[in-house]
Amino acid sequence: MAKTPEKVYELLQTVWDAALPVGKTEAVDIQKMIDKEGGNFKLEPWDWWYYSEKIRKEKYDLDEEMLRPYFSLDNVREGIFLLSNKLYGITFRKLENIPVYHKDVTVYEVLDTNQQHLAVLYMDFHPRSSKRGGAWCTSFRDQYVKDGKNVTPVVSIVMNFTAPTGDTPALLNLDETLTFFHEFGHAIHGFFSNVKYKRLSGYVPRDFVELPSQIMEHWALNPQMLKLYAKHYKTGEPIPDDLIAKIENSGNFNQGFATLEFIAAAVLDMDYHTLENASNLDVNAFEKASMERLGLIKEILPRYRSTYFNHIFSGGYSAGYYSYVWSEVLDSDAFEAFEESGDIFNKQLAAKFRNEVLAPGGKRDAMDMYVAFRGREPMVDALLRNRGFKK
Ligand SMILES: [Zn+2]
Repeated sequence: MAKTPEKVYELLQTVWDAALPVGKTEAVDIQKMIDKEGGNFKLEPWDWWYYSEKIRKEKYDLDEEMLRPYFSLDNVREGIFLLSNKLYGITFRKLENIPVYHKDVTVYEVLDTNQQHLAVLYMDFHPRSSKRGGAWCTSFRDQYVKDGKNVTPVVSIVMNFTAPTGDTPALLNLDETLTFFHEFGHAIHGFFSNVKYKRLSGYVPRDFVELPSQIMEHWALNPQMLKLYAKHYKTGEPIPDDLIAKIENSGNFNQGFATLEFIAAAVLDMDYHTLENASNLDVNAFEKASMERLGLIKEILPRYRSTYFNHIFSGGYSAGYYSYVWSEVLDSDAFEAFEESGDIFNKQLAAKFRNEVLAPGGKRDAMDMYVAFRGREPMVDALLRNRGFKK
């Protein structure tokens, strides 16, 4: 969707320029912490996580265990169903008598605004010995049209969340909560597919595919949304304001570092894949030259060094590692449309998002879809605000 290397470099440079001063300040803060403890040494890349974690505790005092009671699996699931209903008018009905591949799997019928059948959703939440780790969304059947008849999708989301213990239900941490919203966004992309040919269902460029999922994460931690679903599993009390404030404040923590190490790796990827002659390549010298051109500070290394950058040499992300940040440009900018409207549950905007962005799959050019929704091309400013680089 970014289409040209020039556009990719331009995006990476813009984000880089905004993140660099923040990363430098973070390095100064860490050095102060080292000095305060009488460390008597200069900060090196391998010290970063250890000391930044100490600073996080000191500055934000956010104890994940205090949050868990407000994020029971049932409440998070009901919150996601509620959000889907507020935005798109769809509803969910639990199906009991339907074949499942394991007894822990739950199944719902998804009904459209007119109560018409839209999709079937399988959810598989907890780890077990025979199950792969991680979280993903897949489908048993994609939407398409056969002999003039609409074939509806059967979508599955698979997670590995904290399991219930004894009398205590499954209580999720923030990461797990975000993961649930994220994978559900992919599922929604599947529900709303409206194409004729199976191959086009949800078939979008790699730097567009995380838009439907990542935009959901913006609602997950929005204070207004939190009040609706983050309720104590014992008392039903909504999450208190001071905990919401802590979640918000800690959100931008260490973003300078996270952004710089990521962009450094993305630029390295682009540099390799725009090379026209790779004979006699000295890998370390090449990497060093790239990082010097960028001005990466010596306390931070690229997320991946060349010799173990699996993503870009065999992981399918060749000249595509940037797509994570490009997707974030899109989801931040798209979510701001809801905020700008004064209603984060704006139904008209949601309908537009459904029709212009989620439904067409591979039928239309991705940029055209985005412009049809937003009225203009995506702008990077929302991402910079989201990461705390800009007011
Ligand atoms: Zn995803």
